[in-house]
Amino acid sequence: MPTFTIGTANSKPGKLSYGWLDAVALPTGGMDRLPVIIAQGKDVGGPVFWITTGIHGSEHTGSIVVQQLLTQKLANELRGTLIAIPALNPAGMRTKQRSPYYLEDDPNRLFPKPGIERNKKEEKPRSSLEIAYQQLYDAIKSTNPIGLIDLHNAWYGSIPFIFRDPVLYHKKGRGRPNRQQAQALQDRTGEMIDAVGFTVVNEFSADSYIKKNLHRSVSGSILNKAGIPAITIELGSWMHVDEGIVDACTSGLRNALRWAGMLDGEYEEITGIPVIRTPYPVRRQVSPYARQAGIVHHLVRPGQMITKNQPLVRMTNIFGQPLGKDDGLLRSEYEGFVLGWFHGIVRYQGEPILGLAIRDESKLIVPFPEP
Ligand SMILES: [Zn+2]
Repeated sequence: MPTFTIGTANSKPGKLSYGWLDAVALPTGGMDRLPVIIAQGKDVGGPVFWITTGIHGSEHTGSIVVQQLLTQKLANELRGTLIAIPALNPAGMRTKQRSPYYLEDDPNRLFPKPGIERNKKEEKPRSSLEIAYQQLYDAIKSTNPIGLIDLHNAWYGSIPFIFRDPVLYHKKGRGRPNRQQAQALQDRTGEMIDAVGFTVVNEFSADSYIKKNLHRSVSGSILNKAGIPAITIELGSWMHVDEGIVDACTSGLRNALRWAGMLDGEYEEITGIPVIRTPYPVRRQVSPYARQAGIVHHLVRPGQMITKNQPLVRMTNIFGQPLGKDDGLLRSEYEGFVLGWFHGIVRYQGEPILGLAIRDESKLIVPFPEP
């Protein structure tokens, strides 16, 4: 009978179980520990699925989603085992900060790196959080899950959407996955994405995906290192929880469990949030940027379709007078739609203004860059 032990949490058929996974030893004694919730169906023979959230400590919707999804009622209906971590970054959550106070980097770039391991001497020792995430990665992999979904928030007022990562492959003879295996993994991930039923946005194109270390995000690492279908879902504004988005997300996650064969019943329609279907694929793009310091007047809203040359914002000085040519207008270089506003109305030169989803036909499987 498959039982799963994650830290101090032991799965029990037909029940919810709780426990802790030791993560970061604190200099003043004690530990930052990752909370673990396991919901196991009476039929324990089914697949394993993981839901993680809170690696950015200021993003809280996912924790509420996990608490509302993993109930005794779910355990009664479930086939197989659902394992959730409702707080991947407890220090950040306590202080309401994106990164934990003991780390300067983005914690969502610390999961194990995909690609062929090289015995390069490490320049500095790994942080305790990076080691903790390696242990969590090993625990996830050891359960041989059918999928993983990592929950986040994007910007104030942003629409909820799924990020689809590219799948990286090795050229002939250099390692796994090869091209065909990568395509099969991207196809399986696409089925899971379709089941969830949210707006879908592809991640940055492949070279900047690796440059930005996105292959070391939770979903990037589980997808591209462990070879398991994994996605990120962005759930609107951070530091704020919209109950409509929570409901839509729990429906989407139950749909993913149906795709996995872990829940019966019809797929639930996603309601209460915009779901945008374009006739072409889109990827994320930050644009426009402020050409000079000033005040932003927004002319478009999250969820709104945009065309090339459409005015997106008008920039003024503090007196309300237009900045630059074209009456201060910054026009769209792309077609697509608006994902969200970057925070606030004041901008220094070169600061980003909008998160966009733009038309993009680039490939979803790409080779690892040659060393
Ligand atoms: Zn995040």
